[in-house]
Amino acid sequence: MSQQPSAAAQALPGHPFVAYHSAELQVEDVRLSQLATEHGTPLFVYSKASMLAALAAYERGFAGRHAQICYAMKANSSLGVLQVFAAAGCGFDIVSGGELERVLAAGGDAAKIIFSGVGKTRAEMRQALQAGIGCFNVESEAELDVLSQVAESLGLRAPVSIRVNPNVDPKTHPYISTGLKDNKFGVAHEDTLRIYQHAASLKGLQVVGIDCHIGSQITDATPYLDAMDRVLDLVASIEASGIALAHIDFGGGLGINYNNDTPPAADDLWAQLLRKLDERGFGQKKLMIEPGRSLVGNAGVCVTEVLYVKPGEHKNFCIIDAAMNDLPRPAMYQAFHAIVPLLAQTGATLKTTEVPEKMYDVVGPICESGDWIGRDRRLAVKAGDQLAVLSTGAYCMSMSSNYNTRGRAVELLVDGGKVHVIRERETAADQMRLERLVRL
Ligand SMILES: *Cc1c(COP(=O)(O)O)cnc(C)c1O
Repeated sequence: MSQQPSAAAQALPGHPFVAYHSAELQVEDVRLSQLATEHGTPLFVYSKASMLAALAAYERGFAGRHAQICYAMKANSSLGVLQVFAAAGCGFDIVSGGELERVLAAGGDAAKIIFSGVGKTRAEMRQALQAGIGCFNVESEAELDVLSQVAESLGLRAPVSIRVNPNVDPKTHPYISTGLKDNKFGVAHEDTLRIYQHAASLKGLQVVGIDCHIGSQITDATPYLDAMDRVLDLVASIEASGIALAHIDFGGGLGINYNNDTPPAADDLWAQLLRKLDERGFGQKKLMIEPGRSLVGNAGVCVTEVLYVKPGEHKNFCIIDAAMNDLPRPAMYQAFHAIVPLLAQTGATLKTTEVPEKMYDVVGPICESGDWIGRDRRLAVKAGDQLAVLSTGAYCMSMSSNYNTRGRAVELLVDGGKVHVIRERETAADQMRLERLVRL
């Protein structure tokens, strides 16, 4: 099993493998300051043990059940991260043909892939059918028709599940809530039975399951329990109409601790959900889930250096070398990431208070006012200090961009005391490789 952090270490809340050891921040057994010196900043560092511990919590929850965990890889699609989950026997939830190629490159099992998303192209459908994926999670009636045609043209039958929209409020940010009836995902509850009957009539399809996914960063069990009730009502009526469903997929969405958030542990959540499943007589069904953030979010930190400290009349700015292109969540969703020093300034080891603590807006170098990483943070910092932006394993690198021609950061995978470079720092030449100068 995965190793436990040492008792002397002071682990950060929600980050069992990120801890201060004698005032120095470490991921597993490796000091972050050493990694910053060797690899430069900004720098993403992921803990393998943390990912496997998060996966193990789901596996405990499903012990003795017929269940398949499909990592929703859009949370972090780096090959080295996918390898960890593929080697652990995970399936994958993909949303594009590119993600399919990544899973296969990382050694994932095609039969354990499910393909989600509202806008699959014919080319992506062909690619996934030829690879032999496990299931298409179809999001509209029109998509069913196209998928059936594509499968027939290849002489195949596409395994399908239909994503239903249970119309429950996950009480999360509107941009990451997906199960309310006015958003673009899934088919409406009241249309579901008719659409299943249509699917069952199409020659290129084989109905295998039903799925839902109600949103992300959900910190309460109630929306899951409500969604399960609604999905099970549908399962009962679909099966009563003569269409067998081999599996039920409850999506992903479990939250992590970013800022004193208290999501249920995966095994506790599933203990509650499985109780309901058993009560309603569906305990023997094959179960699928699609967690993303909860498997990788708190496995990652982003190490950054303070470039300048800029006092202002109303605000002080701490300008760091990571920016919204590396860490897009604050700009996109006003999201919170904790920011801590690599060298703890408190406690017995502190010799001198070199700089006073002040309130700062922590911002990046990009030419946008939206380029902030943290607001109103109490920090004692000076130029050259190194900071760690926490909970950056999910929806950071996978959403990163080259805005301002900034190269994407280095990514490292830490495994105990071992460090693997899983992505090198991107150069300007890498960025210009596909561009062509013209004869003017
Ligand atoms: C994004 C997504 C997930 C994963 O969501 P998390 O909040 O990262 O767990 C699962 N299923 C579908 C269909 C998704 O779009």
